[in-house]
Amino acid sequence: MHKPMNPIFAGLTTSVFETMSARARETQSINLGQGFPDDPGPLDVRQKAADAVVHGWNQYPPMMGLPELRQAIARHYQHWQGLTLDWEREVMVTSGATEALAGALMSLIAPGDEVVLFQPLYDAYLPLVLRAGGVPKFVKLSPPHWRFDEAALAEAFSDRTKLVLFNNPQNPAAVVYGREDMELLASFCIRHDAIALCDEVWEHVVFDGRRHVSMLAIDGMRERTVKIGSAGKIFSLTGWKVGLVAACPDLMKVLSKAHQYITFTTPPNLQAAVAYGLDKQDDYFETMRAGMMRSRDRFTKGLIERGFTVLPSEGTYFLAVDLAPLGEHDDLAFCQRLIENNGVAAIPMSAFYAHDAVRTTVRFCFAKRDETLDEALKRLETLKKA
Ligand code: PMP
Ligand code: GLN
Repeated sequence: MHKPMNPIFAGLTTSVFETMSARARETQSINLGQGFPDDPGPLDVRQKAADAVVHGWNQYPPMMGLPELRQAIARHYQHWQGLTLDWEREVMVTSGATEALAGALMSLIAPGDEVVLFQPLYDAYLPLVLRAGGVPKFVKLSPPHWRFDEAALAEAFSDRTKLVLFNNPQNPAAVVYGREDMELLASFCIRHDAIALCDEVWEHVVFDGRRHVSMLAIDGMRERTVKIGSAGKIFSLTGWKVGLVAACPDLMKVLSKAHQYITFTTPPNLQAAVAYGLDKQDDYFETMRAGMMRSRDRFTKGLIERGFTVLPSEGTYFLAVDLAPLGEHDDLAFCQRLIENNGVAAIPMSAFYAHDAVRTTVRFCFAKRDETLDEALKRLETLKKA
């Protein structure tokens, strides 16, 4: 009927999140697949958005974002991460981290540039890199520790490397990379004159006293880092799609051109509510983390009692279960059986690899009410073997 469409997008299947959520709805399963909390999110922030819809400005806001939000972003990161950002020249608001990623990849990559990616990778990365003409070079991360070392980076980087796309805290592995890992990665960026595109959307969802370190704060990286955040994750309001970008003025000039023609702007009422929320006192963020940690620990304990091997979750809404001790070697088949037989949806982590996948880990979202987690655990009591 039609001439061939773009082969990268025409060749894609529906995302694993959408597929698993649809299956969960069809089978009335408990959805521990796609990452979103049960909790409705902070009432005062939602009220602020509602007030802004009714009483505020509902026409196009400025292309770079509301000044009050950009100022709040600069204050927030100064306070939490010790970053000094010029809100007028170094901060931009986008329609979700997803738009920020797409815009950054489109505007920074020229066809043929090499792009270093870590697998397992967040599902949007690879199609966007390929569409931008990037040539992916993969660093493979494996359970149980999901760490990288100098030799792995040396294999992936070259003088053709334009950028590395680094996700920290890492979804789906639930690892938080610390200063040493980042300094190692930074040394490769500096040696090969590469940009670090850093997806830091999970920056506030870190556990056991950890503090997020932004790549922007690493020596030598201030001028070569693009930092991406998401209000959806900061306030447990994943449907909001308000993204944040911070980068030096030279990079921002180009990033803003992509934003200008992808979405141009982001709903002003949500921006106003996020501006309000970013100034919340520390105890809001500490309480959110403590609540997530309680859920993580409750679910982990229940899984261990039922004979599962749980890998440590250092951040994000997720934990991974290692299937190898159960004698399971096909995570997709395992997840399908879990939905059909037990009424629980999870995500097979092989979906996050482009090739050479690890097929023995499954991701569960624990950002749920106690009743939801307990019911899921009850359903996992009797696990049918393949
Ligand atoms: N990057 C990562 C690593 C994510 O986990 C997500 C969403 N879970 C996003 C980007 C997308 O964020 P947003 O909803 O703000 O587009
Ligand atoms: N980031 C969410 C997750 O990891 C999913 C977002 C989406 O469905 N695109 O579960």
